[in-house]
Amino acid sequence: MSERKPMIPIFSAVAANRGIDLAAAVTRVLDSHWYVLGTEVAQFESEFAGYIGVGHCISVANGTDALELGLKALGVGPGDAVVCVANAGFYGSTAARSVGAIPMYVDVDPVTLTMSPPALADALVGRPAAVIVTHLYGQLADLDPIVAMCRSAKVPLIEDCAQAHGASRDGKMAGSFADIGCFSFYPTKNLGAIGDGGAIVTRNGEVASRLRTLRQYGWSSKYEVALQGGRNSRLDEIQAAVLRQKLPELNRQNTERRNIALRYNEAFSQLPLRCPSSTAEDFAAHLYVVRTPRREALRSHLREHGVATDVHYPIPDTRQPAYAPSGALQTLPVTEAASGEVVSLPCFPGMTAAEVAHVIAGVRSFFAIHGAAKC
Ligand SMILES: *Cc1c(COP(=O)(O)O)cnc(C)c1O
Repeated sequence: MSERKPMIPIFSAVAANRGIDLAAAVTRVLDSHWYVLGTEVAQFESEFAGYIGVGHCISVANGTDALELGLKALGVGPGDAVVCVANAGFYGSTAARSVGAIPMYVDVDPVTLTMSPPALADALVGRPAAVIVTHLYGQLADLDPIVAMCRSAKVPLIEDCAQAHGASRDGKMAGSFADIGCFSFYPTKNLGAIGDGGAIVTRNGEVASRLRTLRQYGWSSKYEVALQGGRNSRLDEIQAAVLRQKLPELNRQNTERRNIALRYNEAFSQLPLRCPSSTAEDFAAHLYVVRTPRREALRSHLREHGVATDVHYPIPDTRQPAYAPSGALQTLPVTEAASGEVVSLPCFPGMTAAEVAHVIAGVRSFFAIHGAAKC
């Protein structure tokens, strides 16, 4: 039997949590004997709202719940149309479907792979109930035209920031541009808990108070159900305590991620690969994704070389088997082409310079063997 080489993973919780005292956070909660909606949650909500630069943060059980409750708080319900992209892992679609709404897909920009403003303009003619814009891979979408178009059409806008904690443009944070911003704190995210978690941020006090009601059975106060469509979707104290420990490290960790992306971009500049378009503040480098028509060959070469890869995401939302396409779909040529070419390379805080160099060597050796004409 051949020896198994250690793989460089796509993400490492060990590396990302190194040097952060998570035990102290857990111990605080154990000592308090208060497990749900206590002081850690209240403190985290206030600290995270402050970090994003908005008045309100409402924590929930996960990022998909944040999107679902966000839609509900904006009045989206059964039969409504929700405009979103089809290349972002079906999360927005899951949320729309769970409130009985119908996702209406628009294509993405060929450079950033985030929502195309001209495609959105076409979709707004149909007067949808809401728009979800996803900051895919940590890249802030083209928000200026998107926010302006939604405002003038009077259609509420949700930012899916589950991959973009801390990405910013002109000093404005992801999550502070639209009516609401939705976050996931799944362990691999830029701000990750040690389990599931999520949050919604907003400047709108009324929306915030609806969200506080919806996340807890629709209660206005204990045992009084004031709103329909309530859920139980709460962040627990241990996760909140861990997130409070990690929030002060987020900017530093994002810089580490960006620096890795920068090294890759430089190293791959002469190769026939499409690399991320930005390594600046508007890119939180959640995932480092390149595009090549020779994806499967590159992936197996890297596997041999001890480098893990993944595909985010292989199946456009329009082609998911559970929801057969219903006929009159807008064509999505960029989305379709990208789903066959995208491949994610290891990029995470705590990744060593030697690991980055090893990934670069693996990619270069693939193109040395398979030809490196710039495409
Ligand atoms: C992870 C993710 C979500 C969902 O978050 P969960 O906490 O896993 O429910 C939503 N949107 C995007 C873009 C994500 O990456």
